[in-house]
Amino acid sequence: MKIVFATNNQNKVREVQNLLPKTIEILSLKDIGCLEDIPETSDTIAGNALQKAEYVYSNYHHACFADDTGLEVTALNGEPGIFSARYAGPQKNSEDNMQKLLTNLNGKYDRNAQFKTVIAVKGINTEAVLFEGICKGEITTTKQGGEGFGYDPIFKPNGYNETFAQMPLSLKNKIGHRGKAVQLLIDFLENL
Ligand code: IMP
Repeated sequence: MKIVFATNNQNKVREVQNLLPKTIEILSLKDIGCLEDIPETSDTIAGNALQKAEYVYSNYHHACFADDTGLEVTALNGEPGIFSARYAGPQKNSEDNMQKLLTNLNGKYDRNAQFKTVIAVKGINTEAVLFEGICKGEITTTKQGGEGFGYDPIFKPNGYNETFAQMPLSLKNKIGHRGKAVQLLIDFLENL
C-alpha cells in the first residue's frame, strides 16, 4: 500500500520509511504535487495533526498521516505547546525558544514537562485514527549536549541523567514521544 506522510521534512519521511515493511510505501507531499502550505490553525496538537491529514485526504484523495509535536511545561500551563516552533516569535530559532523558556521558568520550583506527539491517519478507516506518544521529563537550568534539535538540550527525560541532546538518537527514538507514536502507527499499518 501507499500512504502519504504530510510533512516537508525529508528526514522524517526517511526515518519512518526505514521502520516500515517494504510493502508499505511512504509518499511525500512533493510526490503527490502538494506544494502549498497546509493550514495548521487548531488550538491543540491533535487538532493540528488531524487538520493536516484531512486536508491532504480531501484535496488529493490519498490515504495520509500527519504528525504534530509540542513541548508542554507544567508551570507554564502547558506552554509552549502548539507554539513550540515559534515560541520566541516567527523569525526566531531554537536558541531563542530555549532562552525564552529558561527565562520564563527562572525561579520556578516545578520544572516538569512533557513532549507530546500526535499522529493522525485519514483515509484508511472511515473515521480518522489518532496515535499519541508522550515522553515525560524536566527542563534543565542550562543547555547540555549537542545532538538532536529544538528543545533537546534542555529536556531531560525521567529516569535518565542526560538530556535528549546528550543521548544517541537510537535511545531518544526508543524512549521519545515521536518514536512511541510512530511505533503505534506502524503496529496499525502492519495489521491492516
Ligand atoms: P513538529 O510538529 O514536529 O514540527 O514540532 C514542532 C516544534 O516542537 C519543533 O519546531 C521543535 O521546536 C519542537 N520539537 C518537536 N519535536 C522535538 C524533539 O524531539 N526535540 C526537541 N524539540 C522538538
